[in-house]
Amino acid sequence: MSAYSLTHLSDQTLLADLAVLVTADRHTTAALLAHIAEVDARALYLPAACSSMHVYCMRVLHLAEDAAFKRIRAARAARRFPQIFGAIADGRLHSSGVVLLAPHLTDDNADELLAAAGHKSKAEIEVLLAQRWPRPDLPTQLEPRPALTGSPLPEVAPGPPRDAPPSTTRATPLAPQRFALQLTIDQSTQEKLMRAQALLRHRVPSGELAQVLDHALDALLTTLAREKFGATARPRTAQSRAGTDPRHVPSDVKRAVHARDGEQCAFVSEEGERCLERGFLELDHRTPVARGGQATIDNTRVLCKSHNRYEAERIFGAAFMQSRRTRARKAPKAQPGTAPAGAATPAEIESDALLGLRGLGFTDAEARTALARSAHLPSTTLEQRLRISLAELHRAHANRCSEGAPASWQPGGRLFIAPTAPGGP
Ligand SMILES: [Zn+2]
Repeated sequence: MSAYSLTHLSDQTLLADLAVLVTADRHTTAALLAHIAEVDARALYLPAACSSMHVYCMRVLHLAEDAAFKRIRAARAARRFPQIFGAIADGRLHSSGVVLLAPHLTDDNADELLAAAGHKSKAEIEVLLAQRWPRPDLPTQLEPRPALTGSPLPEVAPGPPRDAPPSTTRATPLAPQRFALQLTIDQSTQEKLMRAQALLRHRVPSGELAQVLDHALDALLTTLAREKFGATARPRTAQSRAGTDPRHVPSDVKRAVHARDGEQCAFVSEEGERCLERGFLELDHRTPVARGGQATIDNTRVLCKSHNRYEAERIFGAAFMQSRRTRARKAPKAQPGTAPAGAATPAEIESDALLGLRGLGFTDAEARTALARSAHLPSTTLEQRLRISLAELHRAHANRCSEGAPASWQPGGRLFIAPTAPGGP
């Protein structure tokens, strides 16, 4: 007999078994949220070639989009306020309620608000929140819109990269090769659409909006490919700006890297899984500029924002990257083409350089000595400071080797930069 055929059970047994299963399910849910929260906090989705926890939940755990979104939101709230785990385990709160409560929870109100929401339905929690945080009235009349159905297509959106809620725009499959696109546009977009329709009349006499949109996307993609990947119908070897800006990637290198990696993150997990992210793509130097890396085809690859950061942390350490992010947040908005960290003071650069060298595996004493010995050399950016300090360490290492120092001096075997001229590119 199938384990799922229950026709033989008495009503009493059926209800008792159901109650046992619900209790077990609540405990499993609490444990599941705790695991999601910890995996999320450790960013273990990154080595699995997923650009976010949301992508990991869908691609590896095979959760549905909305289930993944809800569980991650609830898990993050419970990590901040661990009393939520117990409340879910004993049935006082459900995940949907936690998602509603999460934006309103603070250290001051958490205990009281979670207690007030205990054993309430989702609708009752909405009422509770509306009473405490009233929102302005909606306009009296809105144009009626049919309900949106269907789910976002993987081809259109491979998954919200930063665990964003599912988009309200839908491209719904209707039949093979046919999709219904439904979206709301504002006045100016409508005017652009009408203007494009009028200008395209000689090529699209019917004015069919689907064809107008197709032409518009062709034009947009050509522009974006040129901006992002240096794509052009008449390629020429770029005038190299590398002499002045070591981070500059020439167009011919961009084109070759794009041809090799495609429009997708090139990060591959140890299991051989490649990251599927196609948004937030950045060009990454395999050997960082600070370590003498050049903008060559072999040294450049396409990475998503999450994996670019992950690789930088693997090389320089989390403390170094955290310090840079904090500084970038505090710094005034950078002008296009300049690094936010450029606003750092010499003392901040010195402090970050120390963290970076420590992250690379050098001892505190080695890092401080190298920084002191190269302090007189001209450097205005963190990358320059790191490059000349690493060159100093390399020189010291070479001297020790020639003097017969033990090979174990090399910190963690991680010193493999080519020395570059101090202050040079
Ligand atoms: Zn990636």
